[in-house]
Amino acid sequence: MKRFLLFALLISSVFHSNARYDLSEFKLKNGLRVVCLKKNTVPIVSFLILYNCGSVHDAISKSGVAHYLEHMAFEFNHGEFSTFLESVGAETNAYTSLRSICFYEIVPSEHIETVFEHESNRMRAIDIDENVFLAEKGAILEERNMRYDSSPEGAAYEALTANAFNRSPGGISTIGWRSEIEALQPQDLQDFHSIWFAPNNATILIIGDVSDMAKIKSLAEKYFGNLEAKQLHRKPEESGRPSCLKEVIYTSPKVSAVSVAYTYYVPFVHKENFRKSLTLKLAFYVLNQPDSFIKKLLEHNWKKAASINFFYLEGYYSYDVVEVCISDSSTNNIADAEKILAQAMKRLLIVGIEKNSLDIVKKQNELMMAYKKDDIGEISEYIARLLSSGYQLKEIQSIDEIFQSITVAECNAVLREVFSKSPVTISRIIPKEYDRDP
Ligand SMILES: [Zn+2]
Repeated sequence: MKRFLLFALLISSVFHSNARYDLSEFKLKNGLRVVCLKKNTVPIVSFLILYNCGSVHDAISKSGVAHYLEHMAFEFNHGEFSTFLESVGAETNAYTSLRSICFYEIVPSEHIETVFEHESNRMRAIDIDENVFLAEKGAILEERNMRYDSSPEGAAYEALTANAFNRSPGGISTIGWRSEIEALQPQDLQDFHSIWFAPNNATILIIGDVSDMAKIKSLAEKYFGNLEAKQLHRKPEESGRPSCLKEVIYTSPKVSAVSVAYTYYVPFVHKENFRKSLTLKLAFYVLNQPDSFIKKLLEHNWKKAASINFFYLEGYYSYDVVEVCISDSSTNNIADAEKILAQAMKRLLIVGIEKNSLDIVKKQNELMMAYKKDDIGEISEYIARLLSSGYQLKEIQSIDEIFQSITVAECNAVLREVFSKSPVTISRIIPKEYDRDP
């Protein structure tokens, strides 16, 4: 089975358009939330369970616990379950991100009860077999090796995001720092499971052939109704902002380009400023286009090989951050990279984005979402991301209209609001030898 970490969560901001989604939801007494979207075009259903816990909830010096638990929970009773899935032509997968662990299955709709049963067992408790635990540790270290230690892009990405939030030591790593993964024990995973795998910390998202809502409700009650709610302590999400500028330098033999990332606090919280948050995403989408003015500026005035990208990391803590990353493979001179970044940002504040570019992006997204909407897996993942960011259903349903109505003046105002303050962290990556373990 393939697994993946959700890079996309940080990288892309997609929007959908046209018709509203017909989302509905109900809650069990123990707090389990069930969100449904009817799409009766084919007799299949996507069942996705989203736990509101991820690598930001890893205990200090135990980075990678959430992701490791995802692996072990995925393996839990997997032989029997995967035989069933194979026999009905279904697919399954799992992922861990900064703030969520997710398991999903896409099955013929007549088999949804088996999925309910399997997922409720996974929430209740998991057995950890020592041999499987060790084998999985090897698999995770290999995953780390492949995705980060041997990949220039992965290494750069991990280093740049590690310090986006005020977390020590070593910063956040979803897959985990090598030495910390090696030290993890089965009990660490059980501790994480017993704290966070609770009905009141989970959302089930069912998309597809779900015309019989009474049946969905009775299955939810039958399999999850007797699980008890837990007291949830969300301390990591309340951790404060660093009070002074934090600067980090990494040197690595693996990376091939000088990179610099500046992190800025977003001076508003996305959950309370839905429109503004969408406006910021849209503005970033324009700036990240291959022909955006800021990319052309870099190419023409500086170096062809340079790249600049904007990331919006929303809601992982009680505050949001944005990151601007610049990299250049044609030089090892980090001072040059920072000089051009400063010029680009200054220009961004003065000129901003243009209406024409905004209109093009709106059109592109409209087309892209028209394709996406037909794919149950894509739509599940898209809505799951929005749910894990804390958006309400009515907000998710209104994204299309808000998105189309956002003006270029709003985009530029929000860009100025975010980038007129000083950055709070600066991460620099230099292609030399470096040890990414804290
Ligand atoms: Zn993995």
